[in-house]
Amino acid sequence: MSLPVVAIIGRPNVGKSMLVNRLTEMTDAIVHDEPGVTRDRTYREAFWQDRDFLVVDTGGLVFDDDTEFLPLIRQQAMTALSEASAAIMVVDGQVGLTTADETIATWLRQHSVPVLLAVNKCESLDQGLIQASDFWSLGLGEPYPVSAIHGSGTGELLDLLITHLPPTEQLEESEEIRVAIVGRPNVGKSSLLNAFVGENRAIVSPISGTTRDAVDMLVERNEQQYRLIDTAGIRKKKQVEYGPEFFGINRAFKAIRRANVVLLVLDALDGVTEQDQKLAGRIADDGRACILVVNKWDAVEKDSNTIYDYSRHLKDRLHFTEWAEMIFVSALSGQRVEKILDLVDTAAEQHRRRVSTSVINEVLEDAVGWHSPPATRQGKQGKIYYGTQVSTQPPSIALFVNDSKLFNDNYRRYIEGQFRKSLGFTGTPLRLLWRSKKTREMQRNPANRATKV
Ligand code: GDP
Ligand code: GDP
Repeated sequence: MSLPVVAIIGRPNVGKSMLVNRLTEMTDAIVHDEPGVTRDRTYREAFWQDRDFLVVDTGGLVFDDDTEFLPLIRQQAMTALSEASAAIMVVDGQVGLTTADETIATWLRQHSVPVLLAVNKCESLDQGLIQASDFWSLGLGEPYPVSAIHGSGTGELLDLLITHLPPTEQLEESEEIRVAIVGRPNVGKSSLLNAFVGENRAIVSPISGTTRDAVDMLVERNEQQYRLIDTAGIRKKKQVEYGPEFFGINRAFKAIRRANVVLLVLDALDGVTEQDQKLAGRIADDGRACILVVNKWDAVEKDSNTIYDYSRHLKDRLHFTEWAEMIFVSALSGQRVEKILDLVDTAAEQHRRRVSTSVINEVLEDAVGWHSPPATRQGKQGKIYYGTQVSTQPPSIALFVNDSKLFNDNYRRYIEGQFRKSLGFTGTPLRLLWRSKKTREMQRNPANRATKV
């Protein structure tokens, strides 16, 4: 799930951090129970209506007064702006327009990012409109009076902000299932591809993928089409150029991005390596469905415990994808290869699955009944008001609670476990979004959302 970024920009002391707190107060600072979230702490998660995004406070944007026309822009602000879908420029309504504001506005106008102008510290509504009118001259469109401290005006600002965010990244719901085959070199990806192609007669011709040399292949079985992503990348043998250890991990990452379901191919003889873990982490981060395909099973000496022991090994070492089904195959003999597609069907279906709000809340009620949320020493107890599924691919469930900080990782895992126990979700990651429900303004919105489902 790569969320759009909103950059908060302005000179020091106008109330940027206060505004960021206001916009992100409903969620934790960046979710810690999701593996692989690598951004630093200045990025915080926020949501409004049905949109999730990241807010980044750029810190005080300081321009060097001595070199009038060559502003020294803090690198952080530059970086933030370059990846931002929208920016909010904050100014101080009580102080009024300053030269520093003008310099920043000029700089912002040179970028193509849409900018909203928030005139902060406007606690009084009437007064605020007058204060705000001062800032029309910045050339950034309508100045919006807000008060980060009181929260007034921020709702209107957010309404407008989300219109500037790119549409939610969703792989289009089509009949075909996009499958990426990824893994280290020599685990048997090409052999597996050949096995698919061999067993499924109705092969449609290779079709070009999104990048220049990415060729996808269409395979059909039982009237279901599977698009095998970047088969050129699988077949490419560049050992000569790169050496036998070369592992095109970025190419694998790209394939994962485009997939609904990822086959993470492992070599039964090697067990799980660090590179396998890295791929698993990425699959989970990107919210893709996954199947662990343990290949070369023919070459393993087996007794009655082997499968059991091996499954344990996989579960221990690949905890990012502990929800993934595993299958033990031989691409060489074709053993169980056909079965992989059955698992793909299930995983894709679960990945796209939508569960009604009433069912989600039944599960929640039951879960809380068995095991109540933790309480602090001071006696403050976590409360879950209700939950509702906010998106699919992967299924994401928002849980509205009194204070998300009261829910520790253990309890979060417990709740996820209960969802899986009751509802399945085999083969797909499940996202739980823990959202504190505090202000009146915010309470209105989740309620609207719940009725939509
Ligand atoms: P930043 O440097 O832009 O991040 O500004 P801060 O968020 O640290 O705020 C700077 C000062 O402005 C602090 O003393 C805040 O209490 C005050 N401040 C921030 N927002 C508001 C507001 O909405 N109204 C008023 N009156 N003061 C505010
Ligand atoms: P890729 O680099 O992941 O595409 O791996 P390849 O498909 O090229 O296979 C690498 C090597 O593993 C080749 O020598 C294959 O013959 C061998 N291999 C692939 N699948 C199997 C299998 O199921 N069993 C055994 N014993 N060897 C396999």
